[in-house]
Amino acid sequence: MTAEPADQATVAGPKPLVHGVASALSPLVRRIVANNPGHMTGPGTNTYLVGIDEIAVIDPGPADDAHLDAVAGCGGDRIRWILCTHTHIDHFPGVAGLRERTGAEVLAFDARDGLEIDRSLREGDKVEATEFVLRALHTPGHASNHLCFLVEQERMLFSGDHIMQGSTVVIRPPDGDMAAYLCQLERLKELRPRLRSIAPGHGHLITDPIAKVDEYLEHRAMRETQIEAVLQQGDATVDEIVGRLYPDLVEDLVPMAAGSVWAHLRKLRAEGRATSADDAQAGSWSAA
Ligand SMILES: [Zn+2]
Repeated sequence: MTAEPADQATVAGPKPLVHGVASALSPLVRRIVANNPGHMTGPGTNTYLVGIDEIAVIDPGPADDAHLDAVAGCGGDRIRWILCTHTHIDHFPGVAGLRERTGAEVLAFDARDGLEIDRSLREGDKVEATEFVLRALHTPGHASNHLCFLVEQERMLFSGDHIMQGSTVVIRPPDGDMAAYLCQLERLKELRPRLRSIAPGHGHLITDPIAKVDEYLEHRAMRETQIEAVLQQGDATVDEIVGRLYPDLVEDLVPMAAGSVWAHLRKLRAEGRATSADDAQAGSWSAA
């Protein structure tokens, strides 16, 4: 039997992610995958428990009793904080149920989309537990209220949907912003000395964090070049560009691809590299 090629191993990950079961990623960090697999969520949303004596839960995921029971079962009243990376539907609706089970304090960038919080976390704010310090990084792009969390003791970044393993991050305007997103990817490279792994909102632990960030930046640069090339051949709408760049895309994913193309066009427009009568998704776009 031949060994798996390295890139294959990265895509497939070490072993399949099983929902409902806690797996230890390090002495301080455990992960439980929610049972909400799909095109947008990969194997499901990752809920992380950081700490042993005092626990911070990151992204409780959907309002699924079995999942929340599993999370609460791992920490009970030692769960002191519930943190949300952002207010998308696969990350936060479990907050209320987990709060009921644990009485923990709820922290996020802001109260939005139905999420109620006890305290707002901004860039540089810290959660200090006996065993670890968790620092918030404001990382708009996927969502304007997106936070990543760095646990220095583990040199581990909890990236939410800023970086995922195994699927592409969707940037959908107007809340999604490609220019901000790329800026926040570049910024992660500055963490290099303090970063050993990335624990994403979906998929496996990423153990080559800077290589992954570079891969993301290259992928976006390639898409941008392709979009500019289409415009150089003539005016086009977002849907026409999607048809050219993603000819075999699954129907369900077309709106996501359209969002990302539109996000790239808005960035190009802001940089004076594309024009449109307005920056609406439905409009016609031209090369500048
Ligand atoms: Zn999201």
